[in-house]
Amino acid sequence: MHFQNRLNPELATRVESLLGGRTRDIRLDGELARHFRERSWRQAAKIIRAWMIWVILLDVLTLGLNAVLLPGHAVAPMALPASILPPAALGAAILFRKPRGQWLEGAVLLTSMFFILLSVALVGVSAGGEFYERHLTIMLFVAVTAIVIFPIPLLWATAIGAFALGLYLVFQLRNPDIEAGSALAGTLFFASGIAATIVARRTATILAQKTFLLELRDRSRLADLTYANARLELMARTDPLTGVANRRSMTEALERFWNEGGAHQDGVAILMCDIDDFKRLNDNLGHAEGDRSLVKVAGIIQSCMRDDGDHVARYGGEEFLIFLPRTGQQEAEGIAERIRGRVEAASLPNPTSSVVPYVTLSIGVAIMLQSEPLSMTELQRQADAALYLAKRDGRNRVVVYSSELDQTKR
Ligand code: GH3
Ligand code: MG
Ligand code: MG
Repeated sequence: MHFQNRLNPELATRVESLLGGRTRDIRLDGELARHFRERSWRQAAKIIRAWMIWVILLDVLTLGLNAVLLPGHAVAPMALPASILPPAALGAAILFRKPRGQWLEGAVLLTSMFFILLSVALVGVSAGGEFYERHLTIMLFVAVTAIVIFPIPLLWATAIGAFALGLYLVFQLRNPDIEAGSALAGTLFFASGIAATIVARRTATILAQKTFLLELRDRSRLADLTYANARLELMARTDPLTGVANRRSMTEALERFWNEGGAHQDGVAILMCDIDDFKRLNDNLGHAEGDRSLVKVAGIIQSCMRDDGDHVARYGGEEFLIFLPRTGQQEAEGIAERIRGRVEAASLPNPTSSVVPYVTLSIGVAIMLQSEPLSMTELQRQADAALYLAKRDGRNRVVVYSSELDQTKR
């Protein structure tokens, strides 16, 4: 059960209000922003690493292709600027292998991007001629792909766009082949393109955040439901007054045990406990005091259980049924006697009890041995018969069922 997916009320309200508003107004902050980063980091880092490798391959391949196709004197000046790119990209790829904190990641990514763009631009600038402008355009293209596919904060994307346009403008102003006006006009033209990609990045980020919020809400609702179900289930199995299991839960546990064949493997004991002269307690001290005694007796019985295998349930008004798997006669009798003794020793008042002026318990014990399997109902009947005799013989005692008892009873 995934209770840990439940949102705290404050966070749940924040998620609801963000999803209730306009999509374009979605902004994550505080814990939600942290959650979102944690959830999306792996995917984002993978994309960034893959892009870095792609750009290195592109750099090396272009240089290689130029070396084959172009005369040596044209390629030589490209080699040095082209060699800036691989270490810069590799640095970012290595950094994004595991989370390092947003500031460091931002600083390294932006530094790497600057040198990558600078490298692409410088290749053209060093080669000159037709390569000059072509490489500046390639540099812009490289920046645009990064802005579009990196799931990064808007500020980082804007910085990458600004680097690209800045480099373009600076190098075009120094381009001997074109006028300053033309350089400016070109920059403005590309600026509009870059701005559009930044807007697209913003939309993609917002949609990713909305998906994240919807998923968070779904998971949280599911977890709330699971939690509520588990609580209901528990309530349906618990006696509200004493907190021990109720009759239904005990019947189910017994049926499960018998159906699963547990009854055929080990000795099994059932103890039927009934508070003596409880009606008199109610009549003398009131129903509320009766309730308090019931709670205390239930607590005492619970304290005598050995492990998770032992079950106690409030079976009727002042009756408790105890189920002890893997238990032989001596052990069952011992446990019954311990319960009886502890209840007596607790000295809970029952002034007009016919036994002693305290709350006491009569217990009927029935044992089923491996060698003589019985039905669940038969074993319970035997415990009831033993309890009947305990009452008849003066109460405040433990009686173990034996087949002769049935004759005595008659
Ligand atoms: P015996 O020794 O033969 O068992 O006598 P008894 O008085 O205990 O038995 P009886 O069955 O005559 O009375 C049981 C009483 O238990 C009657 C009822 O008022 C009381 N009782 C049942 N459930 C509750 C409960 O939830 N709270 C309280 N205070 N009393 C209850
Ligand atoms: Mg009774
Ligand atoms: Mg009773």
